[in-house]
Amino acid sequence: MAALTGLQIQKLLPGTNCKKCGLNTCLAFAMKLAAKKAELSECPDASDEAIHALGAAAAPPIRSVTIGAGAETATVGGETVLFRHERTFVNPTALGIAVDDTITAAELEQRVGELAAYRLERVGEEIRLDLICFAFKSGVAEQFLSALDKLASLWDRAIVVKADDPAVLRDAAKKLEGRKPLLASATLATIDELGDLAKETGAALAVAADDMDDLVAAVTQLEEKDFRDILLELRTDDLCEHIQNNIIIRRGALRSGIKTLGYPSFKSINTGNALDDAIEAGIEVVKYGGVVVLPEFDPASLSSLLAMRQNIYTDPQKPVQVEPNLYPIGEPNAESPVFVTTNFSLTYFIVSSEIENTGISAWLLVPECEGMSVLTAWAAGKFGGDRIGAFAKEIGLAERTENRTLVIPGYVAQISGETEEAMPGWQVVVGPQEAGDLESFVKNVVGA
Ligand code: SF4
Repeated sequence: MAALTGLQIQKLLPGTNCKKCGLNTCLAFAMKLAAKKAELSECPDASDEAIHALGAAAAPPIRSVTIGAGAETATVGGETVLFRHERTFVNPTALGIAVDDTITAAELEQRVGELAAYRLERVGEEIRLDLICFAFKSGVAEQFLSALDKLASLWDRAIVVKADDPAVLRDAAKKLEGRKPLLASATLATIDELGDLAKETGAALAVAADDMDDLVAAVTQLEEKDFRDILLELRTDDLCEHIQNNIIIRRGALRSGIKTLGYPSFKSINTGNALDDAIEAGIEVVKYGGVVVLPEFDPASLSSLLAMRQNIYTDPQKPVQVEPNLYPIGEPNAESPVFVTTNFSLTYFIVSSEIENTGISAWLLVPECEGMSVLTAWAAGKFGGDRIGAFAKEIGLAERTENRTLVIPGYVAQISGETEEAMPGWQVVVGPQEAGDLESFVKNVVGA
């Protein structure tokens, strides 16, 4: 379908200017859709007729591909921009660990248990590993398939099946029918056979090639079969070339509209050096990895990667925020002091855990600051004495504690006077600028 102009798209929208999409008018939203900087799904009232009419014109230039079935699937792709600040990145790089069939059943059980139990908690979000990449390494098909059976019974998240032998991939795909695995990988020589297999069993398929021409030729064959759950694997051992390839593919799909490049990527990393593996995986997270498999499970590098991924895949236009509330830290009572901070998630979780580290129980007052950090909220007029005072009243702070000490962040010492005016009877104490200094502050000033 030829690209529609903003005015053509506007005629298909409800025309109510309801602002639910975050923009003031349907026309503004239509212009963003035309520029591929928005998705039609952001308008909750879009009619079936609009969805049908916009069709491919409204689809993201990088197709979304979901691996796995059930509660914990991994969706990659769906991207619409080259740079996060242009709008946002949509589906985080799916990170997985390689496991192969040369280990014993007991070792497999232990390894999968370890991977399943791994979790990172950060700014209120629990992050887990997305997938296991199970590789055919033993050379004995029966051994691989029996171990795959065991893996599938132990692991309910996404599975990548990696084998060079199409016959093994065929048997594995049949075993995992209904689980939507990712089969890795088809080459130009096997694309016809594996394309049919993936379509028949409902699997996703990674397409591997050593050069762009072969990659495009293989993808074209799949598209001719009307199969599109594709991941691209342009192979090279050279890290610079690999980054360049990722960028060329993303630019080709987004800026030049090359449909055959409009799929997420697949990369199985194995440099032979743990640090290089982690660096390469980090680069994939930044530019523009779809599914990335690490050769070993190293919780230290994995937690860094997951934290970085969380930062990069947070919508820069929608700050992550917590509900405005009066939060108990520990088991506060009527004598406990009250700290105040903003509702930007990162700020809230850092401040609350630092108060927790002091060993005292306290109340943490968190007014609505539109998810901004302390200084930003203050500069925007969202974190001042009047707002803190009004929120304290609204939430009934004075009834929850008899302690009348309120600790404000050191960065906004200037609001201490206005806060005391807004909260008669309260003593406002200026806390430290950095949350990391709360422990000594509590010892020396609050007197705990
Ligand atoms: S949500 Fe839909 S109807 Fe509402 S302003 Fe946006 S485009 Fe228009």
